[in-house]
Amino acid sequence: MHKVVSDFSKTVVVPEEGIRLASEPEPKVREKYINELDKVLITKGCLDARIKGLAREIANGFAGVDEITCVVVLKGGMFFAADLIRVLDEQSKLRTRLDFIKCSSYGDRSYSSGSVQMCQLDNIEGENILLIEDIVDTGGTLRVLQNYLKEKGKNFKTCVLLDKGVASGIELDFIGFRIPRVFVGGYGLDYAGKYRGLPEIVVIKKELLK
Ligand code: 5GP
Ligand code: MG
Repeated sequence: MHKVVSDFSKTVVVPEEGIRLASEPEPKVREKYINELDKVLITKGCLDARIKGLAREIANGFAGVDEITCVVVLKGGMFFAADLIRVLDEQSKLRTRLDFIKCSSYGDRSYSSGSVQMCQLDNIEGENILLIEDIVDTGGTLRVLQNYLKEKGKNFKTCVLLDKGVASGIELDFIGFRIPRVFVGGYGLDYAGKYRGLPEIVVIKKELLK
């Protein structure tokens, strides 16, 4: 049964079986990956619709500001940020700048190693910063990034596409979807370097995860 998703004005809670627009056909994952994936959790249409809503929320959140610097967490946040930033520039009065930060704690595993490695970015002192991250699980990665960036910006906000709803002690200003605590891939998210190019958010089969 297709889920009807009519209200994209606030965080969308994704049920275990996934989420798609009423008008969308059954989601198709690429044949080559079919044996590795459990299901599609969020379809392309739902991602697109929610990103438009997020762009509106971000524009409101930065009311009175002319320009923001989007600091994208590599590599996972890349696809999401590329779509979000284009919608922001197209549909809001905000001007955008783009910057990157690289951060890794997972290696080739499906759980965090606990230590976060960070790579330096451009000088963003005194700018209005929007940190763009793909997903929050324990919040450990984001906590490190927020502590580092908060002091540099004049104004600092965080946007995440997916939140597993378990992190505490961190502030998330804009959340795309709240998802169940499963390991997901696609739309920039990987497992051991794979699945980033899939257009949808997928659940990877548990037996494949280390
Ligand atoms: P945390 O530090 O919040 O536990 O984990 C955040 C980071 O771990 C994210 O930036 C992301 O790179 C990775 N991560 C967490 N959950 C998932 C997941 O379900 N799938 C993928 N591909 N990466 C995840
Ligand atoms: Mg990440």
